[in-house]
Amino acid sequence: MSKHIDFCITCRKQTEYELRMNDVRKRIRGKEHVFSVISAICKTCGSEMGFPWLIDLNIKRIDEQYRIQEGLVSIEDIRKLMALYDIGKTPLSLALGFGEVTLPRYLCGQMPSRQCSKIIGQALESPDFMRNCLEKNRQAIGETAFRKSMSALKRVERLFELSEGMLGCISYIFARLEEVTPLALQKLLYYAQGIFLARYNAPLFDEDCQAWVHGPVYGQVYGMFRDFKFNPIDDERFAVLRGRYAILKREAISVLDVVLGSFGQYGGKLLESITHQEAPWLEARQTVDECERTQNVMEKEAIKRYFLEVKNTYGIDTIAQLEQYIASRKATV
Ligand SMILES: [Zn+2]
Repeated sequence: MSKHIDFCITCRKQTEYELRMNDVRKRIRGKEHVFSVISAICKTCGSEMGFPWLIDLNIKRIDEQYRIQEGLVSIEDIRKLMALYDIGKTPLSLALGFGEVTLPRYLCGQMPSRQCSKIIGQALESPDFMRNCLEKNRQAIGETAFRKSMSALKRVERLFELSEGMLGCISYIFARLEEVTPLALQKLLYYAQGIFLARYNAPLFDEDCQAWVHGPVYGQVYGMFRDFKFNPIDDERFAVLRGRYAILKREAISVLDVVLGSFGQYGGKLLESITHQEAPWLEARQTVDECERTQNVMEKEAIKRYFLEVKNTYGIDTIAQLEQYIASRKATV
């Protein structure tokens, strides 16, 4: 770790300091709040050093924590909603039934009311709710903004053509991994499905995957994220998936945890090369050339059979067991 050094006004010289987290209590609108802030302590005299950058950082931290504690939306959330539905701050304000200056004020830092926060939260979570808002206030927001926003809405609605189980898994993967590319996402979904099938003799989600050139792919999921190519997926659309993993049962979470803890540590390309050695993909591509496109389905039965073999050889209950499986495949890449 690098040393932190700056001028201490008590010592009157450059000294080393350390950063510490501590709690502060503040009364806001008659209510006691506890916030976690960061302070810089001089290692020589022990006094607190007040740097402008640290004060700014703590103001930001307190603002964020206050909003979370009070159930108020963040500026970031409002920006996401605007991007998600391709709509400006004024028409969005009107669409949600607020005054036309309400959202512009929130974006400038004014604290949103709890009532407005609730509406913004609902709009972020539910395209149906947003559709209602847009239709109800179509006149107020104007035809151009309405049409533009409706076409963005259709893009969001396509997400919900996926099964609940699939949406839950995608939502969980995004919540757990910092970065995920479309390629890695496909492989992680595939491994989660395979291990779930072998453990519980039932599918984790209904969608079938296809034996594409680049390994197993869930076609509908691919269509959704294709704009991201090999880049990590970072998109406002995930706001609508946030928390959707709450529908997943304990068994599903347990499978996803071991998959993310093992396969989730590797890039999409390596995962792809491992799937290329596995029977379900090879079998589904028996009739096609190496580079030929196909939509041949990799049957769930075949996937289950394969992961039962993995289970018997390596075990599929822990991250360590799956790491062993991965190591055995990596060696042959
Ligand atoms: Zn000092």
